[in-house]
Amino acid sequence: MDYEAVIGLEIHIQLNSDTKMFCNCPNRPGDEPNKNTCPVCLWFPGAIPQFSGEVLEKAALAALALNCEIQDHTAFDQKVYYYPDLPKGYQLSQFHKPLAKNGWIEINDDEGRPKRIGIRQVHMEEDVARLVHETEGKTPISLVDFNRAGTPLIEIVSEPDIRNSHEAMEYIKVLRSQIRYVGSAECSMEQGTMRVDANISIRPRGSDHFNTKVEVKNMNSIHNVGAAITYEISRQAERLNAGESIVLHTRLWDPDRNVTVAMRGKFEGPCVPDPSVPPIIVSHEWLSDIRSRLPEMPSGKSERFIRQYGLTRDEAVLMSSERDLSEYFEAVAGDAVTPRTAYQWIMTQLNPLLKDYRQTISETVVTPKRLASLLAMLESDVLNAKSAREVLSKLFESDQTPEAIVEQYGFRQVSDSDELEGLVEQVLSDNPQAIDDFKAGNEKALGFLIGQGMRASQGKANPKLMKDMITRKLQE
Ligand code: ADP
Ligand code: MG
Ligand code: ZN
Repeated sequence: MDYEAVIGLEIHIQLNSDTKMFCNCPNRPGDEPNKNTCPVCLWFPGAIPQFSGEVLEKAALAALALNCEIQDHTAFDQKVYYYPDLPKGYQLSQFHKPLAKNGWIEINDDEGRPKRIGIRQVHMEEDVARLVHETEGKTPISLVDFNRAGTPLIEIVSEPDIRNSHEAMEYIKVLRSQIRYVGSAECSMEQGTMRVDANISIRPRGSDHFNTKVEVKNMNSIHNVGAAITYEISRQAERLNAGESIVLHTRLWDPDRNVTVAMRGKFEGPCVPDPSVPPIIVSHEWLSDIRSRLPEMPSGKSERFIRQYGLTRDEAVLMSSERDLSEYFEAVAGDAVTPRTAYQWIMTQLNPLLKDYRQTISETVVTPKRLASLLAMLESDVLNAKSAREVLSKLFESDQTPEAIVEQYGFRQVSDSDELEGLVEQVLSDNPQAIDDFKAGNEKALGFLIGQGMRASQGKANPKLMKDMITRKLQE
């Protein structure tokens, strides 16, 4: 039987607001355990939650980045269940009146064609506490850390429009990029600020029926989401081919064995309207203010990069994938630096050094201004490429300007043939064998002589001039 998969993703994202969702405690779950707590987020009986305006703004910006319609009347519900990381017995979430609905994002399918994936809704939800299990001692114990309790999440529920693991991974990447652009969240699966649950079912290709799905959790990278989906599709196909049926349940991805493992029947507690947080009424003015803060988004920006800077589509997509990177690029490319040079130096020279020095593009000591001055010297032949690379690495170690480094270390390129004349003579008289080889038709000998000339100039000669001079001398 030829099957087709039907996949919908539910993605939880931790917003990067300063405070928690319903109190003024810092939104820093990683601090020393139970440092960021108060009666509200310890969930003491009688403590009254107060909803944060900053959280609403960050959530709304994220929803707008996903082309959703913000609802003018939204409210919180109590999602009721008991667990040690949720001692008050319910989580404040939105079910009946979510923040936003009817969004979409565009991805490329596995043949590179654009495809829209629908977003059913975006809602807000408080996170629960964190359990720390200590199994070392005689009696294993579990500790509860409330730093995360009450920190703000949004959950993004897709339509079941995804058909394979490629599309799922693309969907996550595009979604992550758009939400990072508006600055609402970091969205790192590795660090746990983005958690993806995949709902997967299969059906005979061509059918429009929705079959029973299975929910898979516990993937900690985009790659693993893809792997879990691929595995789960073939597992379900085997089951159906063996005449078994699929039952609704939750499975966990096991990254060591690359399989999904049944965890539990799917459980969903009741959801009842919460009386403690007032409903949120969104005014037209507020919404247009938030809308006006939306930056140029990656898809529009990459189109502009193609038009304005002549980048290829792949280059433009890469350069606009992160807002910081795109802004850095635009600050470097300009009158004195061609976009191509800016692109190439950022990708091939700057990026590896950023990794080595553990700096990010937005915080690096090599500001766009410093890189631009360096590349301007490269483009105006003050420096050759080799020297420019050396100056770049010195920029990481010193706060001098590129110009000052060039002077201090004598990197200035020698483009004056009078200055090179003696050096070229010397190289030729030192290497009679290479001259004979060249005359005998060995082209490599020319390269060798140029290499010797560059070395004799300590790498500072203009390579093109060096080549011209040696060629001319050989022809004489
Ligand atoms: P539940 O109530 O079980 O959470 P929802 O209808 O809320 O189910 O959908 C949850 C997610 O599962 C959504 O992302 C949706 O697109 C996806 N989904 C719904 N039905 C199916 C199906 N038959 N196969 C795969 N995914 C599905
Ligand atoms: Mg659900
Ligand atoms: Zn608190």
